[in-house]
Amino acid sequence: MSYIRIGDDQQPWPAQDESPLQRFKLLARQAATVAVDLVFPPHCVGCERVGSFLCSHCLSATTPAEDRSAPGFDELRACVEYEGGIRAAIHALKYERQVRMVRPLGELLAGMVEDAGWPIDLVMAVPLHSTRLHERGYNQAGLLGRFLAQRMGREFDPAALRRIRATESQVNLTMHERRDNVAGAFVADAGIVCGKRVLVIDDVLTTGATLGACAEALRAAGAAQVFGAAVAGAVYSGETVSPA
Ligand SMILES: [Zn+2]
Repeated sequence: MSYIRIGDDQQPWPAQDESPLQRFKLLARQAATVAVDLVFPPHCVGCERVGSFLCSHCLSATTPAEDRSAPGFDELRACVEYEGGIRAAIHALKYERQVRMVRPLGELLAGMVEDAGWPIDLVMAVPLHSTRLHERGYNQAGLLGRFLAQRMGREFDPAALRRIRATESQVNLTMHERRDNVAGAFVADAGIVCGKRVLVIDDVLTTGATLGACAEALRAAGAAQVFGAAVAGAVYSGETVSPA
């Protein structure tokens, strides 16, 4: 598996089916970002302090996420609650093309997963629907998953899990509607996951419906154990909390 190095900021390739043009655009964006950062020092996305993209103050102000569970998982955890600097960093990664947020958010994930001590053979991420992948140019969960796998010395395989059906956004759906919306939307490759202990990564965990549908597909394909991890856990209020 190969990675691109730009300065000291090691950015993995996007994790899911990007076209060569999308890869070129991501690389160009990273190069432009490095050039800008040389002239303008980085500011924290949460509080604007100078010196880093997500500062230690914002990281230490986080609240550990409440325990989570979803059918199909041996264990499912989020690092911290979806608020403050973490919320700003995830938003920047998803909607402002700030792929440099992968490193601080990925480090947070790595710390939690290492503490959990899960026996992991293979890491994967919740796949993005192709329309959204085309719009965004990368799968943010895939970037986090690949970073984490590399950090932990585990294999990352974006082909292990595929989204086979377009789903409408989970925003504004009730908990039941969310489950129905993503049911059967994913399929796992038995040749890759059968007998393996797998870890599925997402950025934000709200009701667990999306991750639960992934776990169901992985179980059906014979995964021996299924673990799930997200950077942040959002409280489901029945209203728009976070796009899933
Ligand atoms: Zn900050």
